[in-house]
Amino acid sequence: MNLRRLQIETTWGALTLAGGSRAGEGTLILLPQLHLALDAGRPHRALPPMSTVVISHGHMDHLGGVAYWASQRFLQSMGPATLVVPRPIAAEVENLLATHARLEGGRPYPIDLVPVDDGGTYSFRRDMELIFFSTDHWVPTLGARLRWRRHHLLPALADLPGEEIARRRLAGETVTEELTIDLLAYCADSGPGLLRDHPEVLGAEVLLIECSFYRPADRERAARFGHMHLEDLLPWVDRLGCRHLVLLHPSRRHRLREVEEILDERLRPHLDCSLHHLMVDWE
Ligand SMILES: [Zn+2]
Ligand SMILES: [Zn+2]
Repeated sequence: MNLRRLQIETTWGALTLAGGSRAGEGTLILLPQLHLALDAGRPHRALPPMSTVVISHGHMDHLGGVAYWASQRFLQSMGPATLVVPRPIAAEVENLLATHARLEGGRPYPIDLVPVDDGGTYSFRRDMELIFFSTDHWVPTLGARLRWRRHHLLPALADLPGEEIARRRLAGETVTEELTIDLLAYCADSGPGLLRDHPEVLGAEVLLIECSFYRPADRERAARFGHMHLEDLLPWVDRLGCRHLVLLHPSRRHRLREVEEILDERLRPHLDCSLHHLMVDWE
């Protein structure tokens, strides 16, 4: 099936997000311009071109496409790739891939496995890194902020002619400063404790966050399994600093049409940012 596709404006430029998400069935979020996948919960033909895959936790709906990704990259000679996983599950994921490679009768997949911890970082290209944070789920789970580092001219030099700036640069003078911008935060599976422990996610330009439950009767269920209920999210709306809010991971207890109606009625009118979602019914 086709993934949902969002094109959203950020300081970096128009960022494409392609993906789909449904609790228990699969969450798969691709940033094709960056060759980056945030969770690989389902096999999908759009997944193998991603050279970096980040897994948030060991639940099947976030991990189920990893062996397919590694296998397809191997079969299609797509070159080495990197799989970033929380350290507590790194050895098991390595075994999983080794088992699949043996079952296929081939050599080990050329995947570089990188274990990461809460507070750790991983740089996947010169100007971008991921910063990991623990979420509020019932197994070890890491979300990630995507930080872009850009250099721009020192404001004090803005009025100088280009030749003068070039002359100063050649003379060894510092003419630029580095700015860091949190382009995106992916909060994986998480209850509301995440928003108390890591309020920095609220400042990312694009905030991808789960909202699994919507009905009053499901409040206790959400708390028990470390998931977000709409009622958990609403008190935080005034503190959102994002330009785009992208919701994920609706429970199968809800039809998508019902979720969209509830969002239009209860969330959208209170937001200063734009509201999107990557919720799908996987076929
Ligand atoms: Zn999940
Ligand atoms: Zn989970």
